[in-house]
Amino acid sequence: MSVERQSSCADDFDPGSLPVETAREKILQAIQPVAQNETVPLQNAIGRVLAEAIISPVNVPSHTNSAMDGYAVRGADLPEEGEVKLDMIGTAFAGHPFSAEMGAGECVRIMTGAAMPSGADTVIMQEHVTAEGDQVTIGSGQRAGQHVRQAGEDIKKGDAVLQPGKLLQAADLGLIASLGIGEMQVTRRLKVAFFSTGDELCSIGESLGEGQIYDSNRYTLHGMLQQFGVEIIDLGVVPDDREKLRQTLLTSAEQADVVITSGGVSVGEADYIKDLLEELGQVNFWKIAMKPGRPLTFGRLGAAWFFGLPGNPVSVMVTFLQFVQPALQKLSGMRVKRPLQLQLPCQSRLKKQPGRIEYQRAIMRQGEDGQWYVETTGGQGSGILHSMSLANCFIVLPEDSTGAEIGELVTVEPFCYLT
Ligand code: AMP
Ligand code: MG
Repeated sequence: MSVERQSSCADDFDPGSLPVETAREKILQAIQPVAQNETVPLQNAIGRVLAEAIISPVNVPSHTNSAMDGYAVRGADLPEEGEVKLDMIGTAFAGHPFSAEMGAGECVRIMTGAAMPSGADTVIMQEHVTAEGDQVTIGSGQRAGQHVRQAGEDIKKGDAVLQPGKLLQAADLGLIASLGIGEMQVTRRLKVAFFSTGDELCSIGESLGEGQIYDSNRYTLHGMLQQFGVEIIDLGVVPDDREKLRQTLLTSAEQADVVITSGGVSVGEADYIKDLLEELGQVNFWKIAMKPGRPLTFGRLGAAWFFGLPGNPVSVMVTFLQFVQPALQKLSGMRVKRPLQLQLPCQSRLKKQPGRIEYQRAIMRQGEDGQWYVETTGGQGSGILHSMSLANCFIVLPEDSTGAEIGELVTVEPFCYLT
């Protein structure tokens, strides 16, 4: 039986609106990675996107070495039962190998990381031998070949260790250093310009007039962009003045790869951005089937990509994370990954109208029983920025969901601005 949707649902169910997934795909299809690369030294490479494959010029480890402090022996000398006595003929330290040949019936005292002497293939832990002077006694129960790290067992010469598109993390820098490589090609840093719009907005340091509010969006955007490692061009607050907006849009597009605005895209009388963009750029005005953050503008403004985010502080963050972040990832040459999601039992009762996907702010935590749970932060108005500050995740309720009961499994998207 199909039930006609009631007009009371019209607010949330709009057949003309785009699902989040579709909008994200359209954005990612339009955007191509920046073509320019630059060379950076290892110390400056954290958070940059690799533009070349890293091919190992060496074996890692470069020499077969001991994984333990003990005695290097020949596996063939080990007793099946009883004991064997071996002559200790020298010592190998890390960085100071024992360079003579080790023969049958002999052993070499060896430290962790020291090169295996020629002729030795096995290490016996020092706790498992009895040493008296130059005589070392070893019992049965040892395995030939044990406690030895083979040359090239981590990385072989000629292996591609990292691929282009990798966002470089601390472990990658160490890995590259372990190959003796000190600099690499990365994609150039993106330039992102943004500004806030609205006559009601006051900057910090000014005193609030009647009906005014402090501009918070610029600071959340600044923070999110800083975590992303782009070059930031903060163009401040622009009042609802057509000429000033036109000028700022034009100058921002000249300076940046991406221009982000917040506010001014709803249908309020003073919302000029839409008109100006129709005049100055090629942009789409979408209604996204999501809450918060329904209106979204995306397209071209000169040579820059343009994102017009809604004005409400939570909407700005949610739309940034869902649309701008993957766009920046693709532009910077990264492989775009889907956001990390998991299923957790919900400890709150959640209300929702069907029609739009909802990103409810929530806290995931471990209960006393050791299980992980998620609970709402409370009020979910798109102006309640405190909810984002309290939250460490979104509960993502799909379009057709009507909420969740206590104990129900819900989809959780942990906050993770970086990757
Ligand atoms: P708008 O899309 O311009 O109609 O703005 C929607 C709501 O978000 C209004 O309540 C604005 O006052 C608020 N808002 C817009 N821009 C900002 C901003 N930069 N900081 C804080 N609130 C804002
Ligand atoms: Mg406004």
